[in-house]
Amino acid sequence: MAKIYPKAYFGNRLVDQKAASLNITTSAILYGLSVYTVFPVMMQEGKKMAAFRLEDHFNRLSESARIIGIDGFNGSWNYLKFVQAIKKLNHENKIKEDVFIRATLHVDEELPGTRSRGLHTVFSMFAYEAQPILSQNGARLKTSVWRRVPDYSIPSRAKVNGAYINSVLAKQDALDSGYDDCIFLDSVGHVCELSAANIFLVRSGKLITPDTASDILEGINRKTIIQLAKEAGIEVIERTVDLTELYIADEVFASGTSAFIAPVVEVDARRVANGKTGSMTSKLKKLHEEALRGAGKKHHDWLTYL
Ligand code: PMP
Repeated sequence: MAKIYPKAYFGNRLVDQKAASLNITTSAILYGLSVYTVFPVMMQEGKKMAAFRLEDHFNRLSESARIIGIDGFNGSWNYLKFVQAIKKLNHENKIKEDVFIRATLHVDEELPGTRSRGLHTVFSMFAYEAQPILSQNGARLKTSVWRRVPDYSIPSRAKVNGAYINSVLAKQDALDSGYDDCIFLDSVGHVCELSAANIFLVRSGKLITPDTASDILEGINRKTIIQLAKEAGIEVIERTVDLTELYIADEVFASGTSAFIAPVVEVDARRVANGKTGSMTSKLKKLHEEALRGAGKKHHDWLTYL
């Protein structure tokens, strides 16, 4: 298990991570009624730490709360307060390596029944060592027997804790079958994403990814890759994707905070092209890494120094 840092942010202050707990009677525990995001804090030149695209993470968290109808976030939190809390968490834990920070808004009202509005909430954050959830040298994917929960049931663009049971089922199915992760299809068989990462494919030099109406999480690294690719002169197409396109793609890769940019070398027992990391994947992975580390000339505005 990845190392978890000893101090957590819980209810407007820092506490011992092991003491930051929720009661068994709360909606967060009873129904998984919490929204969250995970963002990286990476070591920069001169051993400084910086969070990546923090404002996008804050906005997505706020939108997740709005979609679900949890109204305890937007009144009591703003971006400045969020940044201050992260700085405090970083300093108290003396973080000096790449970490992920998980920020969650929990509905901790006791026994309110199955509703969301006007309920008490508590905000938590903790930091843990940044270990990629997918191999960075070639992941093997299997189409899941479980379909992605559609927007009309539990919206994928909201990052809701309870909805992750869908990802747990699909990831475990893939692991049980000897693969690294799943490919989620929607209810009519189009490609959505992995259990916790977005998917891209390359065909004839063009970069293709399922569009935002394809029951996906609107990944912040997905958005980053699209921008970096366009800046590099690559044509990017966001559209519906068929499963069989992955079988004949020149390259396939996944993107996400915890997946970074993970090349995919096999899909459903079919090798992707020659089974090696493709050139466009390598190029975009390098540009992404540079952006995370503030190494390129551009995009320093994506970093918040802590
Ligand atoms: N899809 C799902 C289902 C996820 O859980 C994640 C991880 N947050 C992603 C995609 C990638 O999103 P991001 O790039 O914002 O980490």
